[in-house]
Amino acid sequence: MHRQILAVVFLSFAVAVPTLAQPAGARRGGDDAAASRSLERWLQQLENELEHLQEDLYFQRGSYPAGLRDQVERASQAVAHFHHEVRRSDDREHWLRDFREMDERIHELVESLNRSSDPWLQRQALRISYPDEQIHYALRRTISNPRDGFREVLARHARVLENEARNLEALAERVDRRDDRMRREIRDFADEAEDFREEVERDEDFDELREDFQEVDEKWHQAVDQINRSATGLYLRRTAQNVNRVHNQIFEMLNASGIPGRTPPADQPRPITPPRDRYEGPRDRPGIEIELPRIGRFRIPF
Ligand SMILES: [Zn+2]
Ligand SMILES: [Zn+2]
Repeated sequence: MHRQILAVVFLSFAVAVPTLAQPAGARRGGDDAAASRSLERWLQQLENELEHLQEDLYFQRGSYPAGLRDQVERASQAVAHFHHEVRRSDDREHWLRDFREMDERIHELVESLNRSSDPWLQRQALRISYPDEQIHYALRRTISNPRDGFREVLARHARVLENEARNLEALAERVDRRDDRMRREIRDFADEAEDFREEVERDEDFDELREDFQEVDEKWHQAVDQINRSATGLYLRRTAQNVNRVHNQIFEMLNASGIPGRTPPADQPRPITPPRDRYEGPRDRPGIEIELPRIGRFRIPF
């Protein structure tokens, strides 16, 4: 019974995630629906994070930067407005207007949280940045001309990857102090993620970046192997999944056809080959596994 449910869950996951191997045209329709679902999911997540922040500001914190509560309120309203528009209409121009308005407020809020010297508020900034970046990513896939350039998305994604990697590293230090191997693999990966972020900021061309990312990818594969093999609990695995998602999105961005530097000049065509044989599709991408009693072991959906 459970296995059947699992099979269905797994199948729907397999359908929802675009396959790298498929030609872009063939996956367009399913992609749009998946991107819209993803957009709504991350808008909901962003609303939840802001709500928790507001709640904690009221109930738990003694002092915090002046005006922060109003800033969270304004950001919440802008997110709710955009979310409403996404649910209600198909007017992509309106979506973009609402998104830009929302995004400005979110980034202002994240900046003030980061400016504070309170580590708790800085952690809140991380929690808000993550769904925000996922919304950028989903919007890019929903709107063909999102005015959000490839390089900007890549740069922000690289920053989010580094931040989440460091967050995972700190968490592993706290919860799995005795698992030396896993902690080391995660730390090595976080160092690579930091290098990669610097390389993106140095404005290297895409072929170089694709090569640089292979090193990040190598380290992440090793870290994931250790995490999956370890006895670590759900919380660390979910945090690892946040890393995994952004990691695989960067991989997909750099390896999709049609990205800058990927199209050969017309006079000297060269075949586009995937960097490695094993990267045939999302099944072969790194995935975080969890094991639940009476259900068994499975990958956390993308
Ligand atoms: Zn509106
Ligand atoms: Zn943003």
